[in-house]
Amino acid sequence: MRVRPRLWIVPVLTVLVAVAAALPAFSRPGSGEAHRVGAMAPTKVADARRPVARDVVLAVHGGAGTALRRGTTDPRKEKAYRDGLADALKAGRRVLRDGGDSVAAVEAAVRVLEDNELFNAGRGAVFTEDAGHELDASIMRGSDLAAGAVAGVRSVRNPVSAARLVMEKTKHVMLAGEGADDFAARNGLPTVTQDYYWTQRRWDELVKAKAPTKDPRAEKATKGGGKGTGAAEEEITGTVGAVAVDRDRDLAAATSTGGMTNKMAGRVGDSPVVGAGTYAKNGTVAASATGHGEVFIRGAATATISHLIEFGGRDVASAAYEVVVGRLPRLGGTGGVIALDHEGTFAAPHSSEGMVYGYLTEDGDIVTRLFPDETSSDG
Ligand code: ASP
Repeated sequence: MRVRPRLWIVPVLTVLVAVAAALPAFSRPGSGEAHRVGAMAPTKVADARRPVARDVVLAVHGGAGTALRRGTTDPRKEKAYRDGLADALKAGRRVLRDGGDSVAAVEAAVRVLEDNELFNAGRGAVFTEDAGHELDASIMRGSDLAAGAVAGVRSVRNPVSAARLVMEKTKHVMLAGEGADDFAARNGLPTVTQDYYWTQRRWDELVKAKAPTKDPRAEKATKGGGKGTGAAEEEITGTVGAVAVDRDRDLAAATSTGGMTNKMAGRVGDSPVVGAGTYAKNGTVAASATGHGEVFIRGAATATISHLIEFGGRDVASAAYEVVVGRLPRLGGTGGVIALDHEGTFAAPHSSEGMVYGYLTEDGDIVTRLFPDETSSDG
């Protein structure tokens, strides 16, 4: 029998090659961790799925973004980040040592970060497109899934404390805008005027964000996760968060942010949204996120980590990695989470190039991580 020339294989191969070429663009998490890991340090790929540390009782993050680099980062800036994270961990450590619970510990840690203008939360909040400041925060208790949040507040000095008040003193989960500001003031929380949040650095970032750009990364961010923000991945954005486990093995998580530079007035990101920016459930995970908020909301990021553990039998590190590095970048945005389980297993995957964070161990030791060669390792 005469073998017919397999001409059909030509178009099939053409299609296969085209699909193969297109695939990395879908599976590659943007300019993020897996991309950087894959391109520059292949041996680290497996590490990012593994826990950063064990026997952790409290962890904080100070935002995700383009990486701070060892050698090129001003040593004063490096020190400021390490000190800022360590101060927050020390505040949480005091609470836990005094027998306080995980909710009190994450609130205390986040308050310290909110008072530090280095971070995009509280004092150092970024500007909206009309040069204002609108802050978001949430807190969640793992023992009973109680949660509280505030969105778009303009005069609360410590939004995380307002979120805790919503959780403990109302029958609601989230208050927004003026109602939230009034509620916080009525309950005795310190209030500030908008100029309290003014910092030169954030002003410069707003001016830069408004300048016309031909940067294709900015285009991409605008079309994807950064929709409406007009911002490319920034150097560490500075959203803050904390996760903790106390001596009763109760989990808690909190997140606080000024949002994204040049965001529309009224825009609310993932940080105050339970199941997106923050989640805590005993037996699964306490998680706090940072990154392109729209994508973390659409991907139900922190709740999905919990579900993967509860219904998928996954451990905390692989669940957090799958959501942050495996799934969210396909929706068009990058970022990271800190995730802690009730046994003290701690993970901090990020699809952004960098993320700054720190943790406190059961023995009282404090560790801070800023650079990619620290943050992608398995500790
Ligand atoms: N997730 C925050 C938001 O979208 C921003 C950030 O984490 O940098 O509001």
